[in-house]
Amino acid sequence: MTVHLTVLGSGDAFNSEGRGNACYLLDDGERVICADFGPTALMKLRTCSQTAPNDIDAIFLTHLHGDHFGGLHLFLVDADFLSRRTRPLVICGPEGTAEVVSRWYELAFGEVPASRGYEIRYVEMKPGETREILGRTATAFRARHMGEGDTPLAFRMELKGACIGISGDTIWTESLTEAARGTDIFICDCTGLSGNSPQHLTWEALRPRRSALDTRLLLLSHLGSDMRRAADSLSEQNVLAADDGMVLEVRSGRVTWKQPNRG
Ligand SMILES: [Zn+2]
Repeated sequence: MTVHLTVLGSGDAFNSEGRGNACYLLDDGERVICADFGPTALMKLRTCSQTAPNDIDAIFLTHLHGDHFGGLHLFLVDADFLSRRTRPLVICGPEGTAEVVSRWYELAFGEVPASRGYEIRYVEMKPGETREILGRTATAFRARHMGEGDTPLAFRMELKGACIGISGDTIWTESLTEAARGTDIFICDCTGLSGNSPQHLTWEALRPRRSALDTRLLLLSHLGSDMRRAADSLSEQNVLAADDGMVLEVRSGRVTWKQPNRG
């Protein structure tokens, strides 16, 4: 089977260099899963993919920061009033996801519809937990992002035909090696080019650890300005900087990709 990964948002929280907020579309031919759904995600879904909102079966949230889930109210209002969704939707994230997403919708639009034409099934995961979701296996790992009060997650998802990992926002932590283990593609926070950040990985911090990540392709994303500008001159093997509209394909253990046409 062939799995496609479309990058719908490769930018940091600030849309640096005009790139969208975090969102990755994973399609294994039977199921379509979004990883993160930042404020720009619905617009990017419509401009960078052929996938309709109603085609999405599940949305995974690595953590509950606005640049990672803050487009969900638009997805849901589209489902309620424009796309008129009827299929169930899974929303999977750390503890607190159901409450935060409902409140977000209510703040944005005044009220949550009393009845919807479809069911939302929330799955809240703790670090270390493995769940079967829509016939796919997802494991959550603890990321380290903004102190100990929250529970940012990294995920490893076993789809039909590929294993994809995502770090979410994080500094270096050993659990990333578990999240990346055996993956075809590991989407990894690489906000900065150099130095150390208390919240995010930089290329300087990540580069010496590349060999610790057991993945065929390390896909750097959540790129800030400096990193985005340096992205085209990366020469590390099996490392690629994400860009909005980039489509990666995993087929029989081989990863290929097409750069977006930015003309
Ligand atoms: Zn964050």
